[in-house]
Amino acid sequence: MLFLDKNQAEHQLEQLRKKLNQDRKAYYTDDAPLTTDANYDQKYQQLLKLEQQYPELITADSPSQLVGGAVSPEFSKVSHEIPMLSMGDVFSFAELAEFNERVKKLIGHPVDYNVELKIDGLALALLYQDGKLVQASTRGDGSVGEDVTANVQNIVDVPKVLPYPINVEVRGECYMSKAAFQKLNDARDQDGQNVFANPRNAAAGSLRQLDPTITKQRQLSTFIYTLVDPEDLQVTEQSEALAKMAELGWHTNTTSFVSHDLIGVADYIAKYQKLRLDLPYDIDGIVLKVNNLNLQQELGNTVKVPRWEIAYKFPPEEAKTVIRQIVWTV
Ligand code: NAD
Repeated sequence: MLFLDKNQAEHQLEQLRKKLNQDRKAYYTDDAPLTTDANYDQKYQQLLKLEQQYPELITADSPSQLVGGAVSPEFSKVSHEIPMLSMGDVFSFAELAEFNERVKKLIGHPVDYNVELKIDGLALALLYQDGKLVQASTRGDGSVGEDVTANVQNIVDVPKVLPYPINVEVRGECYMSKAAFQKLNDARDQDGQNVFANPRNAAAGSLRQLDPTITKQRQLSTFIYTLVDPEDLQVTEQSEALAKMAELGWHTNTTSFVSHDLIGVADYIAKYQKLRLDLPYDIDGIVLKVNNLNLQQELGNTVKVPRWEIAYKFPPEEAKTVIRQIVWTV
């Protein structure tokens, strides 16, 4: 990137903010992206680099300071007591190694990571009281999400009643399998309706429906990966949390593992970069999480992302570069 003086940078940042915020609204609020994720990511990285050079030019409406999108006024609002944040991302192994160095420096010693697939769907929070599902919500803007409880009652793999009468919140990804996506798009095509661009947008458009019977027809699935209050269940590690949540009935992704070093992480990346097209669901990368939950607490969060986790994003798939017009209403 060319070096820009402060005036040029200010102008460039204004343009980038405007474009990225338009894209964010289309993607998060309207479930109808205007551009590819790769294009968005490239512009977002440009913005981050300029803001790094001139931190005094960071504004409150910069995408670097915001999580997700505005909550649709058509849904009841749900406040997230613990914010649902975004995630930092890297695009090369060298940047992943830098993340590891940063963590080691902050903690003072090497740490174990839980390595997981990054599922390409949308984040979902599930709240249980006395073992019963009482509320489901989207991430929204991170502090306030949309109430999608009635819709989630229609997702088959979400347990509505737990084996024990506990109060617990879990979070994870709501996604549409490639097979369900194909079936949905074929049916829409036959009916002369516009098709969804990809399974992520089909999942978001199907979960964020005012009529729960539509969600029911759309065959959504979940992978749950966060136990919000792990100490309540005497859990001290992310890997343990995943095992506990699977035991209690949530659907968890079984490919994750604990790695003591980045060699294991590199192998996992190589494996799933090759396998991703054969998986029954879309992934857009892998996630590295400090496995010890106390150390996660110690590292804390920025306004937007946890310091204890990072996404390694895969290069874009060919098929995803085509953005088609999307309509999700019936
Ligand atoms: P993100 O999707 O890159 O990462 C955070 C999210 O990852 C979490 O909220 C969670 O939903 C998900 N996730 C999946 N698997 C996970 C796992 N195992 N553990 C934890 N979380 C997991 O961040 P974001 O802020 O939601 O979105 C930014 C991304 O969205 C961009 O990088 C871009 O690719 C895409 N985007 C695209 C457009 C567009 O116009 N095409 C616009 C805005 C954003």
